[in-house]
Amino acid sequence: MSSFSENDRKFVWHPFTQMKTASAPLPVIRAESVWLFTEDGKKYLDANSSWWTNIHGHGNKYIADKIHEQFLKIDHIIFAGVSHPKAVELSERILIRANQHYQKVFFSDNGSTSVEVALKMVYQYWYNLGQTKKRFLALQGAYHGDTFGAMSVGERGYFNKPFEHLFFDVDYVDFPDDQNGEAVLSVLEKLFSTGEFAGFIFEPLVQGAAGMRIYSAEWLDKAIDLAKKYQVLTIGDEVMTGFYRTGKFLATDYLSKKPDIICLSKGLTGGVLPLGLTLATQKIFDAFLHEETTKALLHGHSFTGNAIACAAACASLDLLDQKQTQEKVDTISKSHQQFVIEQMQNPKFSKVKSIGTILSIELKTKEAAGYFVSVRDQAYQYFLTKGFLIRPLGNVIFLNPPYCISEEELRSLYQVILEFAETKE
Ligand SMILES: *Cc1c(COP(=O)(O)O)cnc(C)c1O
Repeated sequence: MSSFSENDRKFVWHPFTQMKTASAPLPVIRAESVWLFTEDGKKYLDANSSWWTNIHGHGNKYIADKIHEQFLKIDHIIFAGVSHPKAVELSERILIRANQHYQKVFFSDNGSTSVEVALKMVYQYWYNLGQTKKRFLALQGAYHGDTFGAMSVGERGYFNKPFEHLFFDVDYVDFPDDQNGEAVLSVLEKLFSTGEFAGFIFEPLVQGAAGMRIYSAEWLDKAIDLAKKYQVLTIGDEVMTGFYRTGKFLATDYLSKKPDIICLSKGLTGGVLPLGLTLATQKIFDAFLHEETTKALLHGHSFTGNAIACAAACASLDLLDQKQTQEKVDTISKSHQQFVIEQMQNPKFSKVKSIGTILSIELKTKEAAGYFVSVRDQAYQYFLTKGFLIRPLGNVIFLNPPYCISEEELRSLYQVILEFAETKE
């Protein structure tokens, strides 16, 4: 092993990692297309797009050129009282892509901050209007990020136990499945009708971290409708679902009702640079217009509107506009659908579902399901030995590969999952 791997142990504290017991991380020295190359001469297929971010594959030449070009023009400049062309270009293009349902774009650095901004917009909207609405609604199993506001609206549990006493009050309703949909809606209506709710946040159509749990657009349309009826503001957290992950540009493109605010990050820059966007309707924006500064959204980050990240995002949009990217998204989606049809009755699986380029397979286990089930580690290690980087969520194995993946590479992923399933009794 080179000094790089040894020094990792010495100097680095990794995310979501128990450093006492974790095995050494993969020592990656090069990333290209869907492949990660390690210093010991092995390669691994990046089946989850490097934490769901990398939509065009690694080392995309077009994005690289645009980043280089931008660096030579403007690298990074302050965004308060100052503007630059790429931020404006990105804003205009995103608003058009979101079908002009939103009118303003607020910049931040990642998914969690895009959610923080959305939460602050909602709370301050009511504050500026002089109304006391303090309660928030979220879905069981929600994940919206790891900063305090984002944690507050996320599923409460072992991930954020030490901080629980610091969170604001949030009500949770059951995840809407095929059976309980109407019942959950009536709970929702009962809560909303109190008039105490400021907002309702959700991951549209797919809960990512909960295990790629898919739910119906019809249900969400009805839920948003109820929110509108009782003047509860809605936040669609599209951090994971945006940019064709679910087959359409946005997951909310499947809906006839739209949230008041949406959050974007992860695939936004093609997954190569951190950037977050919070899109708001004119109604939200107007509530912040006032003679008094204190009514403004007094929020910002040092790297707000980073020009290089904006250039990467514009380049990614160029690639998404190409016919061949659309065809790839289509091919992956159809291939997943076919897998679902073929494997629906597989006795090793308790659930097999897909939406767009996401395939989610729930393994039948004797242990109670959850993030820390041992099958998760077994599966992860098994896939690594076969040259695949697939990070299951508990007993859910899922695929959300970069769109440039070949059909053969995709088949090899299905194959290794089926092989792993066969090793289980
Ligand atoms: C990943 C994720 C976040 C948090 O984004 P970060 O960039 O990791 O802070 C928020 N919401 C959803 C739905 C996510 O999947």
